[in-house]
Amino acid sequence: MAVQAGVSATPVPPAAPGAAFGPAVALSCRECGERTPLGPAFACALCFGPLEVAYELPAADPGELRRRIESGPNSIWRYAPLLPVPADVAGRPNLAPGFTKLVKADNLARELGVTGGLYVKDDSGNPTHSFKDRVVAIAVEAARAFGFTTLSCSSTGNLAGAVGAAAARAGLRSCVFIPHDLEAGKVVMAAVYGGDLVAIEGTYDDVNRFCSELIGDPLGEGWGFVNVNLRPYYGEGSKTLAYEICEQLGWRLPDQIVVPVASGSQLTKIDKGLRELIALGLVEDRPYRIFGAQATGCSPVARAFKDGHDVVRPVRPDTIAKSLAIGNPADGPYVLDIARRTGGAVEDVTDEQVVAAIELLARTEGVFAETAGGVTVGVTKKLLDAGVLDPSLTTVVLNTGDGLKTLDAVAAGPRATIRPSLDAFRAAGLAG
Ligand SMILES: *Cc1c(COP(=O)(O)O)cnc(C)c1O
Ligand SMILES: [Zn+2]
Repeated sequence: MAVQAGVSATPVPPAAPGAAFGPAVALSCRECGERTPLGPAFACALCFGPLEVAYELPAADPGELRRRIESGPNSIWRYAPLLPVPADVAGRPNLAPGFTKLVKADNLARELGVTGGLYVKDDSGNPTHSFKDRVVAIAVEAARAFGFTTLSCSSTGNLAGAVGAAAARAGLRSCVFIPHDLEAGKVVMAAVYGGDLVAIEGTYDDVNRFCSELIGDPLGEGWGFVNVNLRPYYGEGSKTLAYEICEQLGWRLPDQIVVPVASGSQLTKIDKGLRELIALGLVEDRPYRIFGAQATGCSPVARAFKDGHDVVRPVRPDTIAKSLAIGNPADGPYVLDIARRTGGAVEDVTDEQVVAAIELLARTEGVFAETAGGVTVGVTKKLLDAGVLDPSLTTVVLNTGDGLKTLDAVAAGPRATIRPSLDAFRAAGLAG
């Protein structure tokens, strides 16, 4: 089991009244099912398995629930009845992320030979330009409910910016930790909101280990680490990607969905979200396939998938897809389970293929993805070429971040630099 550290050593503050967590009723262990009260805990006291949020979901008539969601705000808060947040969450100071575009990618589909409908879920449209705003928004509500005063995280880049911004808006202090060698765009985004940013000499996995130590130390008292001691709540934010995709497809499940894998949290919660929609009768119950995408330079889950292993052997990351550079992914084994159970796969692409895919998506659809989006588009192409993805089925590819944050990955620039004269332009040979 790849769960980091043990149970939080921070004394558990009394849980706020139930209403703070909406339909959520407990935390439950993903491994053994043991239930524990809603609190800032992340590992099962019995078996150290990861905890996740358990619900008593509304027994409403599906048509009624659908109408209620559709008349809600244009943000993840339209799904508040399915999330561990208070009913009045939309009126609180937060960044109201989500409800990003589902782009019907017909040009890309033609290029890749997809006939069943190809869509790009473009999460670069979030407030800090990555999907991380979704997960942080839920974690902030939990932090408030538990009385935490400092919001923190270990980050591969995007999370630090999302936490900084969300804390600023919520009026919380923030102190976030990143590896020292991140892209300038992510460092600036993480620092500009006025919280404290600390660069750690090491990889993300070193940063994460450091944060686990900090949680157990008096130095970290009163701190909510969104992806460590608030991880069960944080993870629920990724379900909203599944909800939105289905709603935007007209309350239909996609047949195939290609998801980037760093820690694996997002992929596992997209599966959870899809299963909830089926259980609630909001979509038809039929099979879907989930595919995981990694960069070859950090592909421990793809490796395990191809080798037929259940355990994920940690690696030392070396890739331009830094937002996905987690060498020891906490949810890796669950990603393997889901890919195998749904008939999907986990595949990886080289940095050269990532760059080519960023350019392909930009050229065909006008969407400028960060390297993680290059990974998903690249893997989609590779799996189509290999006959693993079925081109005749409805396929959704996630772009989880913005190309402006990973500018160094692409070498695009002016075709010519000329004097401002027609003669010079004519000489450059670009007319007509
Ligand atoms: C964090 C991140 C992911 C996925 O992270 P998980 O840890 O697997 O949930 C995907 N894309 C981008 C751009 C990210 O920043
Ligand atoms: Zn357990």
